[in-house]
Amino acid sequence: MRASTTAAAPRIVIGASHAGVELALRLRQLDPDVPVLLLGDEPVLPYQRPPLSKSWLGDPAATPEALFMRPAETYAQAGVTVRSGARVARIERDARQVVLSTGEVLPYSQLALATGARARRLGGPQAEAMERAPNLHCLRTLADAERLRPQFVAGARLTIVGGGYIGLELAALAVQCGLRPTVIEAQPRVLARVAPPALSAFYESVHRDAGVKLLTGVQVDSFGFSADGRIDAVFWRDAAGHEGRLPTDVVVIGVGVLPEIELALAAGLVCDDGIVVDACCRTADPFIVAAGDCTSRPVPGHEGRMRIESVPNALEQARTAAATLCGQHQPCLGVPWFWSNQYDLKLQMVGISRGHDTVVVRGDMQSRAFTVFYLRQGRLLAADAVNRPAEFMLARKLVTDETPVDPDLLTDTAFDLKGLTMNRIPG
Ligand code: FAD
Ligand code: NAP
Repeated sequence: MRASTTAAAPRIVIGASHAGVELALRLRQLDPDVPVLLLGDEPVLPYQRPPLSKSWLGDPAATPEALFMRPAETYAQAGVTVRSGARVARIERDARQVVLSTGEVLPYSQLALATGARARRLGGPQAEAMERAPNLHCLRTLADAERLRPQFVAGARLTIVGGGYIGLELAALAVQCGLRPTVIEAQPRVLARVAPPALSAFYESVHRDAGVKLLTGVQVDSFGFSADGRIDAVFWRDAAGHEGRLPTDVVVIGVGVLPEIELALAAGLVCDDGIVVDACCRTADPFIVAAGDCTSRPVPGHEGRMRIESVPNALEQARTAAATLCGQHQPCLGVPWFWSNQYDLKLQMVGISRGHDTVVVRGDMQSRAFTVFYLRQGRLLAADAVNRPAEFMLARKLVTDETPVDPDLLTDTAFDLKGLTMNRIPG
């Protein structure tokens, strides 16, 4: 099964999504002499994931092609060979080759891992029956969304387990499409992993006002099944021992993701809740880089490493990883940023608020346009802007530059925040 590695062996990218596509195209731009092979196990051309919980799912006429990142010709013109439906089963680092699930052996000169993440499942004693139920869904892939869409119809009682991004974006879309959504969140508040209590409370009131039934601090206890194997009820319980039964037509599980690290682990690469990489996306193997949701990376201004699950991060790491493979030094120094669209609300977040000592709000939450600023020792650490794109852009600059800021100026709506980028308070 061994193939010899030659100088002509291509660079191989495993995982054909946001990180993998950017990486492959960037490699060809930086070094057109070495062929690039992009391997993805999904059966379609690489596509955008964000619309799966937003516009695309709500439009019965939307086609898969509408999601494609690039037309097939773009890859061909760039000299990237895309192989869809190709799952890598093993990496043989000593021989510098990968083995596909079909047994086919492909030598590489250098390798990039962009294997992403998969949806977490609920598990438990009913796991088998749940997985068989035709109306239980998760939402990670186009195939997941295509399976869900015919059931995502007006009047359906939709139970969403998990009040994170997927759960809330889906709940907003469900209301707009005439479904009757209930969100069950185990934490005492929604968006607990990514937002402070004030922002969680804001989103909870927005969703309740829109007609979403929201149960927080509540665990799914078990499911009820009809004779044909469908889930027809969700039984829940809270910490105080209250219990309830929710009749349901459709269930979506949105309880987070697990990084796809099995290939890397089996190949002996260091993993710790993600493939461990440095700021240049290097793994412990000098011939292998990694980028995107599958990685655990250092973040400027924060101790240790973390997994950043977002498109902007996948793109930034991909560009860095490509540069590294081509012998260039382009570490990831950008501040992470995120977005989420729910109803008329465009939420844009910059920075990681972990470790803040001060939180201030600029604007009035009732007006549905405001920004939450997080400071640590007088410097802006992060900001969450709701319908305030200009403040988001400004906050991005202030966080990146670690500009010292006066929290009173941040909340003074008569003060033009642009002044902060010009007149720095001595830090
Ligand atoms: P992934 O997109 O997970 O891609 C990894 C690819 O590798 C997959 O196609 C996988 O099948 C493939 N793969 C894995 N193992 C193998 C193997 N052994 N062989 C071959 N192929 C393999 N982020 C935002 O920033 N904004 C949003 O609004 C937003 N909305 C989202 C909505 C939804 C419904 C979902 C699911 C995610 C959303 N995200 C959003 C998150 C964003 O999509 C991810 O952060 C991003 O997709 C990460 O890209 P990636 O390339 O690292 O990994
Ligand atoms: P998520 O943001 O991690 O949220 C999952 C939520 O479900 C968490 O609050 C989690 O609480 C909760 N939960 C876990 N187990 C539960 C249970 N048994 N019962 C009820 N609640 C439970 O993940 P997600 O919403 O599933 O999204 C998946 C991925 O897609 C993430 O990477 C996310 O960033 C990405 N995504 C991003 C966007 C965006 O950026 N706009 C939009 C959609 C999806 P714990 O934290 O306690 O586990």
